[in-house]
Amino acid sequence: MTVSALGTRVERQPLARYTTVGVGGEAEIWFVETLDGLHEAVQAPYRIIGAGSNLVIHDSGVPERVIRLSGPLAKADLTPDPGLSDPVNGLIVTGWVGGGTPLPGLLRKLQALGWSNLEGTVGIPAQVGGAVWMNAGTRFGEMFDGLHTLEIVTPQGVRHITPDDLNWGYRNSDLPRNHIVSRVRLKLQQSTPEEVQARMTHADDARKGQPKMKTPGCAFKNPGGVSAGMLIDRAGLKGEQIGQARIAPEHGNFIVNLGGATAADVLGLLRLIRGRLAPALDVPLELEYEIWPEEAAADLR
Ligand SMILES: Cc1cc2nc3c(=O)[nH]c(=O)nc-3n(C[C@H](O)[C@H](O)[C@H](O)COP(=O)(O)OP(=O)(O)OC[C@H]3O[C@@H](n4cnc5c(N)ncnc54)[C@H](O)[C@@H]3O)c2cc1C
Repeated sequence: MTVSALGTRVERQPLARYTTVGVGGEAEIWFVETLDGLHEAVQAPYRIIGAGSNLVIHDSGVPERVIRLSGPLAKADLTPDPGLSDPVNGLIVTGWVGGGTPLPGLLRKLQALGWSNLEGTVGIPAQVGGAVWMNAGTRFGEMFDGLHTLEIVTPQGVRHITPDDLNWGYRNSDLPRNHIVSRVRLKLQQSTPEEVQARMTHADDARKGQPKMKTPGCAFKNPGGVSAGMLIDRAGLKGEQIGQARIAPEHGNFIVNLGGATAADVLGLLRLIRGRLAPALDVPLELEYEIWPEEAAADLR
C-alpha cells in the first residue's frame, strides 16, 4: 500500500473484489475520499469503477489506475437543503450524496423517510455514480427521476450541472466516459414510508426469476425487442458451463459465477451464445455490460 501526495490510499488489488461477478485481474486502485484527491487521481490515465455491477474485467486486469470513490464520497447527506427545498409542496432537495454511495442502502433510507422518486430503481446493485452515469432503471423508474444537481470531475476540474444540461435518455446520461459523477443532490417528493414501500415491492416483484448468484447482470440487449433470455432458452443453452461460469438455469440472459470463475470462462460463454444465435438473427447480439479492457473482447462488440 502507498499513499499519494494528497493522502489517497493506493493499492494493487484484484478487481474481482470490486465486481458483482467476482472476476478481474489486478490494477492500481485509488481509494479517493476528497475532491482534491480526485483532481490528483485524474492527472494520469484512469478508469472509474462503481459497484462493478455492469462490468466484466479481463483476467490480466487493466493498465490504467482505477478510481474508487470512498469515505465521504461514498456517503449520503440527506439533510434537506433549506434554500432549494419547498416543504409546502413536498419538494425535498438533499445535501450532497457521494457517487460511491451504494444505491440499495440509499433506497432503504429514502423509504424509511417516505421520500419518493427513486423507488423504481430498487434491486439495482449499483453505486449512485455508476447508476447516474448509465441512467440505470427499470420500467418503474430511473435515476434521472430523482436528480437535482450533478457534480462532475474531469482532468479539467469540477463542475456542477443539472439534468437539463444533458441530453439524457434511456439508460444513458449523455456524460462522456470518465466524466466522474463525484456527488449529486437528489430531488425527492414527500410521500409516506408505506406508499414508497408498496411501489418498491411492486417493482421488485418483476425480478422474481433472476438468479441470486454472483453475476454482472443481463448479458445481452434484447435484439429488435425480442427477449434475449427467451432466444438463449430456445437454443437450449441454459445450464451450459465453461470452467466455473454457467448460463443460469433460471434465466438464460444471466451468466453466473459458481465460485472461482475467470473472465475467460465468462467471455467463453458470451461467445458461445453469440455464435449459436447468430445464424437466426438479422443483427448481432449486443452486450449489456462493459468489458475492460475493451480490446479483450473486440469480437463481442
Ligand atoms: C443482478 C443485477 C441486476 C441489475 N439490474 C439492472 C436493472 O434493472 N436496470 C439497470 O439499468 N441496470 C441493472 N443492472 C446493471 C447495473 O447495476 C447498472 O448498469 C449500474 O448502473 C452499474 O453501476 P455500477 O456502480 O455498478 O457501475 P460499474 O459497473 O462499476 O461501472 C459501469 C460504468 O459506469 C461508470 N461509472 C461507475 N461509477 C461512476 C461514477 N461515479 N462516475 C462516472 N462513471 C462511473 C464506469 O466507469 C463504467 O463505465 C443490474 C446488474 C446486476 C448485477
